[in-house]
Amino acid sequence: MATSRDQLGTLEAEGSSGRQGYSGVEVVLSSDPATPAPLCPHGPTLLFVKVNQGKEETRRFYACSACRDRKDCNFFQWEDEKLSGARLAAREAHNRSCQPPLSRSQCVERYLKLIELPLSQRKFCQSCQQLLLPDDEEKHHEHRVVGDVSITQLKRPSKLLYPLENKKTNAQYLFADRSCLFLVDLLSNLGFRRVLCVGTPRLHELIRLKESGGTKSNIRSLLLDIDFRYSQFYMEDSFCHYNMFNHHFFDGKAALEVCKTFLQEDKGEGVIMVTDPPFGGLVEPLAVTFKKLIAMWKEGHSQDNSQKELPIFWIFPYFFESRICQFFPNFCMLDYQVDYDNHALYKHGKTGRKQSPVRIFTNIPPNKVILPIEEGYRFCPLCQRYVSLENQHCEHCNSCTSKDGRKWNHCFLCKKCVKPSWIHCSICNHCALPDHSCKGPKDGCFICGELDHKRSACPNISTSKKVNKSKWVVKQQRQLTTSTMRLTQELLAYVQCSGGSRSSVKETRGLKMRSVIQLAIGG
Ligand code: SAH
Ligand code: ZN
Ligand code: ZN
Ligand code: ZN
Ligand code: ZN
Repeated sequence: MATSRDQLGTLEAEGSSGRQGYSGVEVVLSSDPATPAPLCPHGPTLLFVKVNQGKEETRRFYACSACRDRKDCNFFQWEDEKLSGARLAAREAHNRSCQPPLSRSQCVERYLKLIELPLSQRKFCQSCQQLLLPDDEEKHHEHRVVGDVSITQLKRPSKLLYPLENKKTNAQYLFADRSCLFLVDLLSNLGFRRVLCVGTPRLHELIRLKESGGTKSNIRSLLLDIDFRYSQFYMEDSFCHYNMFNHHFFDGKAALEVCKTFLQEDKGEGVIMVTDPPFGGLVEPLAVTFKKLIAMWKEGHSQDNSQKELPIFWIFPYFFESRICQFFPNFCMLDYQVDYDNHALYKHGKTGRKQSPVRIFTNIPPNKVILPIEEGYRFCPLCQRYVSLENQHCEHCNSCTSKDGRKWNHCFLCKKCVKPSWIHCSICNHCALPDHSCKGPKDGCFICGELDHKRSACPNISTSKKVNKSKWVVKQQRQLTTSTMRLTQELLAYVQCSGGSRSSVKETRGLKMRSVIQLAIGG
């Protein structure tokens, strides 16, 4: 594990040169406001450009912002393509047909009915991932239906809803209780009274659980997520069906207003945004979205506190640090390792278990964020922040330099600390793994970027098993498996590669995956 992780760490160290051997697709942000992007079922599409050997091709195209697999959303349009009226109409009809079968208010109505029912009549269809009212039961009688759904279960939808497919391939990526409790306590200790949860359904439910549990915390939470299944469990003021790659509210202005009101309440005081986006997603559109949420929060301010910033926790792997700081230069990365429930990789790093690569990026001063001593963190008075025990203060760098939780060593030639397994290479003139190739990175696997196999042998190609589900559910689940995503293996690839941060290789890989997977499955 350490070896392969470091191999791509070499790529990381080589920075932008690391991407020269690759070709892929990059997002174009400065699209002309006079020509709005066409819409797919997931809202406005994004403009992409193909990059070959580091050179941009001239023809740009629009594709779905949320789905990185053509199988989930096959929207494609050249930037300069003119569509006939008939095709536009067909597209509009298609977009409509892809929307969830129930409106937001219908969901709320159903929920209110459901909680009035006696326990024995409250049912949940696992096949359809849907709460059932007595009238629905007939339609689901051949499905896997569980009964006696308690109020406690209704308050923990992330435990009731299935990880979407095979756990080993594409599990949804939920916080372990330890990390989730840490976050809730931290938010409460920092004095926040409202939390905008963007793609953090488990955090959302735990905040609400604590609040209703009679503890003094009294924090309110609003969840924005693309996973429509959650709309069954929440009122309009606590869930919005939302796409964080294009800031699209699926339920239009009413939902946008819910979000705005939430952010601007109390003149914007006491609110924080916490987000845990899919790691396969592009950093640029996420940053643009977060800036829009920040602007929405700012609108509600008087001039006098215009210097103030919306506090943010952006949860993401450590090797995206430079990408995130490109967009948010004042963010710092905390040493806290965020653990997830459904993969061993994210379990906490002590006692020889693998360490999670996932960190919290924030604009809150790090000395205010107390990390738990009992989980192996200490305060560095020189850095004025909490760091993991193994992260030692380097007197030459004047900082606790480790990023990955291991002890790093200072290289006097590179004038910086490097990973413990690296040595200084006089040919490359920087530190690298002892067995690196001095000619720089080679083209590895087209799918995951690993160097030791080609795409035909990539473990990331897997076909999904389908069970007896409605078309819509299959469609939803497909969408969720990519967009919700976090294919466990994908992250594995990230961790092993960790070259993505500087080179953006990993980010473009997601787009390459679209066509590759299509090829592989013959779709
Ligand atoms: N660790 C978090 C969950 C992170 S998984 C927790 O335990 O609460 C990523 C989340 O982002 C999922 O809930 C997924 O549904 C959501 N998501 C994925 N793509 C999204 C998109 N385009 N827009 C909004 N939410 C998205
Ligand atoms: Zn069913
Ligand atoms: Zn230090
Ligand atoms: Zn150093
Ligand atoms: Zn060196």
